[in-house]
Amino acid sequence: MRLDYIKLENFRNYVAQEVSFDPACNVICGENAQGKTNLLEAMVCLSTGKSHRTRADRELIRFEEEGFRLDGRIRSRHRDFTSHIDVGFGKKKKITVNDVPVRAAADLSAVLNTTFFCPEDLQLIKEGAAARRRFIDSSLCQLRPRYAAALAEYQRLHEHKTRILRDCVDRPDLIATLPDFNLRMAETGAILIHYRARFVKMLSVSAAAAHNECSGGKEELTIEYKTVKTVNDPFADHKQLTVQLLEHQRAHHYAEVSSRQCLSGPHKDDIEVILNGLSARTYASQGQTRTAALALKLAAREIHKEIIGEYPILLLDDVLSELDPKRQEYVLNRIGSGQVFITCCEEDRLHSLLKGNVYRVKGGVVTRQ
Ligand code: ATP
Ligand code: MG
Repeated sequence: MRLDYIKLENFRNYVAQEVSFDPACNVICGENAQGKTNLLEAMVCLSTGKSHRTRADRELIRFEEEGFRLDGRIRSRHRDFTSHIDVGFGKKKKITVNDVPVRAAADLSAVLNTTFFCPEDLQLIKEGAAARRRFIDSSLCQLRPRYAAALAEYQRLHEHKTRILRDCVDRPDLIATLPDFNLRMAETGAILIHYRARFVKMLSVSAAAAHNECSGGKEELTIEYKTVKTVNDPFADHKQLTVQLLEHQRAHHYAEVSSRQCLSGPHKDDIEVILNGLSARTYASQGQTRTAALALKLAAREIHKEIIGEYPILLLDDVLSELDPKRQEYVLNRIGSGQVFITCCEEDRLHSLLKGNVYRVKGGVVTRQ
């Protein structure tokens, strides 16, 4: 798939900007704070309906303006698409694909997918579980509409249950509503576990190959899915997973009420990355951490290709300059046949390494070189 054209109106520091892209490689350079990341962010919005940086759409509206609009022309699944997003203060977000209104994320994912990679991702391995969960969730949401729907539902239930646990000291009658929430969370949680277990299995195979190649065949990487303790087989059927999740909730009932927190469930899931038999989070060196993080991201892109049949567009935000020459070369070799957008600072001279279009961004204005 590829993004051929984008138009940004009052999006972040852009007033009105149209850009056409190369089907393979696009290098976006500019000094700090000129709008490079904002341009990639607009692409993420076109593929997921929301920003990767903020949950608040109003932050995306250019200061002192009433709303923003994004238009994209996309080629995917052997068809041409046009996508539009229209956001305004106090108005409902409008998203259309080929001029037909769509439900946010799921329908946009059926058109454009992105793999976004930024310097913070190079710490994915060392960060807390939340960062790895976000990585799994964002990959799966783009691949599986049913997962995206289940995750949204689970998050809604989780927020509601958290409010009940918080308020039940003043209103003990609320405790009676917990069993219903627990049941629905267990049923929805079982769907999450079903998809996560399969995705992590594929990720383990693909990331192991990528890591092995990038480390010159010296290191072996494996990934294990860590979920709720009572779930002894995450590949079990939905009914069994639901029963096991309920069992865990029952065991944590008093702890949840006394700590007033939602302690039990797949919202605590994690993946354990193991390098040569040792936990990467605890023992990996900086170089190993970066290589493993790189392997995870590129593996997710490969899985996408396997399932959907096309590479998602790859957005590399300032990431190449953070890698040593060997790893830079490795990433560039791995890009293969997909479309890529690479941002860099003026002095990086990356554009001399790459073939494709070069764009300069200055004060929210993009010019092709
Ligand atoms: P760096 O090289 O430092 O990463 P960048 O080119 O990626 O820089 P961006 O993150 O794209 O920079 O941000 C460019 C500018 O956009 C920032 O100076 C920021 O203040 C501005 N900006 C962010 N949100 C808005 C907004 N809603 N309205 C207007 N300007 C904004
Ligand atoms: Mg930036």
